[in-house]
Amino acid sequence: MTKLLRSWVESANSAQCPFPLNNLPYGVFIVNGQPAQCCVAIGDQALNLAAMELDGALSFDRTLVTGSWNAFMALGPSAWAELRGLLIEMLAEGGRTELSRYLIPLSDIKLVMPFAVTEYTDFYAGRNHAFNVGTMFRGPENALPPNWLHIPIGYNGRASSVVVSGTPVVRPHGQLKGPNDELPRFAPSARFDIELEMGAIVGTASNGPISVTEAFENIFGYVLLNDWSARDIQAWEYQPLGPFQAKATATTISPWIVTAAALEPFRVSTPEREKPLLDYLAEPAPMLYDIDLEVTMAPEGKSETVISRTNYREMYYSAAQQLAHHTTSGCPMRVGDLLGSGTISGATKESRGSLLELSWGGKEPLTLDTGETRSFIEDGDTLTLRGAAKGDGYSIGFGECSGKLVPARNL
Ligand code: MN
Repeated sequence: MTKLLRSWVESANSAQCPFPLNNLPYGVFIVNGQPAQCCVAIGDQALNLAAMELDGALSFDRTLVTGSWNAFMALGPSAWAELRGLLIEMLAEGGRTELSRYLIPLSDIKLVMPFAVTEYTDFYAGRNHAFNVGTMFRGPENALPPNWLHIPIGYNGRASSVVVSGTPVVRPHGQLKGPNDELPRFAPSARFDIELEMGAIVGTASNGPISVTEAFENIFGYVLLNDWSARDIQAWEYQPLGPFQAKATATTISPWIVTAAALEPFRVSTPEREKPLLDYLAEPAPMLYDIDLEVTMAPEGKSETVISRTNYREMYYSAAQQLAHHTTSGCPMRVGDLLGSGTISGATKESRGSLLELSWGGKEPLTLDTGETRSFIEDGDTLTLRGAAKGDGYSIGFGECSGKLVPARNL
């Protein structure tokens, strides 16, 4: 495992800092009402890459002045490697300290969506999550659908409701019908939930089937992703076509794109196969990542409680396998396509990635450190995902993926 790369930005050299020189995650910020600017995080600072390209200190076909990372991603892997190499050289100890004029404290900027989400697909690829939810919805004997160990199951979601961390989420209305209700009713969701996921961002477009290896190379980077889910709406609507309005309210992502290049030292294999996969899905090399994850919940005005701790390596399918499967139909993939991993739950109760599982469908409410109990999310609660890959004396952080649930609209 590689060591900490030291930077002349001193705050980047702390073992606790989420943004050391090894990381260099890409974001977009606004400050003082100016247009959105592409930046990279280093220590407790953002380096304004848009200003550097305007001044001629970097030259990437003016993609860094577009206020989004899509145009840069479209330049392809050689440009990705070139920019990362230049930034490491410029920001390394003994590097270009005169660039400090392009640094802005992270505390002074507002981060916005780092890229335009062109399409959004969400998967269901965590073994423990699929088993737990299947047990609750269909009983333990039918928990895993017969296809689950062969296909990375997914559904086409909504790009339009993907939002950046910090955006409030409004409790949705929908059709609800409990098992004992004779007829459905229209009301605010009473079982609103989170899903702890990772999002993979397609950086290279494809038009037709691609291999798992090509898929791995086409992924530019990763974000934390919360797939907010209305369980009561989902339970009534999901058969036979899968989730629809239950998942369309909002999907929150963390504001920094952590590149596949930064995560390279943390590659791990997917867990052992329970059934052999068809050849086109075989993983030719480790393509999953060892990333520690946690979820906290904070009632309005109160301190937060950690409600789950798990790891991305719990996934049964990697993002590369999911992306390769997605293209088998000939489905074109675009720059800015976002793939949700599926809920990441570990084997133990404390490592479950949704409240549905943590409270076992509401039968076993959680007790927060504040003394309050929760089965699902209440108005005013803030849910935050955090993640970090732990290196030798450094940590690759993702920033926070946070959202507060606000009361339903009056309809
Ligand atoms: Mn999901």
